[in-house]
Amino acid sequence: MYDFHTHSEFSVDGRYSMEDFAEKAIEKNMRCICFTDHIDLETGKDRIDIGFIPYDYFKKAKQVKYNYKNKIEVLAGVEIGIKPELKKRYDELIKNNPFDFVILSIHAIDTLDIHYDNYTKGKSPLEAINAYYDYMYQCIESYDNYDVLGHIDYIDRYFDTPGLIPEFNTYSSKVEKVMKKIISAKKGIEINTAGLRYGLDYFHPKADILKLYKELGGEIITIGSDAHTPEHLNYEYESVRKFLKYLGFKNIYIFRERKKFPVFID
Ligand SMILES: [Zn+2]
Ligand SMILES: [Zn+2]
Repeated sequence: MYDFHTHSEFSVDGRYSMEDFAEKAIEKNMRCICFTDHIDLETGKDRIDIGFIPYDYFKKAKQVKYNYKNKIEVLAGVEIGIKPELKKRYDELIKNNPFDFVILSIHAIDTLDIHYDNYTKGKSPLEAINAYYDYMYQCIESYDNYDVLGHIDYIDRYFDTPGLIPEFNTYSSKVEKVMKKIISAKKGIEINTAGLRYGLDYFHPKADILKLYKELGGEIITIGSDAHTPEHLNYEYESVRKFLKYLGFKNIYIFRERKKFPVFID
């Protein structure tokens, strides 16, 4: 079992140490855990940088990696909150630090954070969701130093009730455009199981999007729980594994030093 989306105390919304996560991962018989703590540059209306100091992060991650090396593999990645105009700053960050894995996430649309600023409020659901996928496309068109696109239909969490989420076919052409771009850029997507903890009855992304990804030739998928507490490590991992197999995927992928490795789904 591999968890490629986890948040330690190096994330603004994390409280548990890397050791806490490593201990729990060992208890859960996991093979590998990859920390993907947050860096969100120029976020919110005030455009402030939120994130960890890479020097401290890697110092700690290296210690934990070494201390647990006989029991579990520990990797250090990052989840970046992208905006098209931040290309240069993120390029510098990624280039200058030895990340194993980079998740690209859309947490905000321009200056409005989807969660903190209630992005969907005051807009029709279709207007909000169209703007979200248009913005996602702009982001991946302008920035390509990443490995997987994170929690693709994250915005679904932020409608007042799940019943307000537009039918997939009303905006699927926009998602298709995003998927094609990811595949042609040889990037991947993640399955993020946190959707199930946020009132949805599916993982991110939902089955419609996964099927579309498969149909278009997409293969690269990582699995992550988005755990902010060690208990959530590998959350619903088995269901994802079975579902991917059912959809016809042969492998999932893990990353080390930004290189991808297939892991056969048995
Ligand atoms: Zn995220
Ligand atoms: Zn996350």
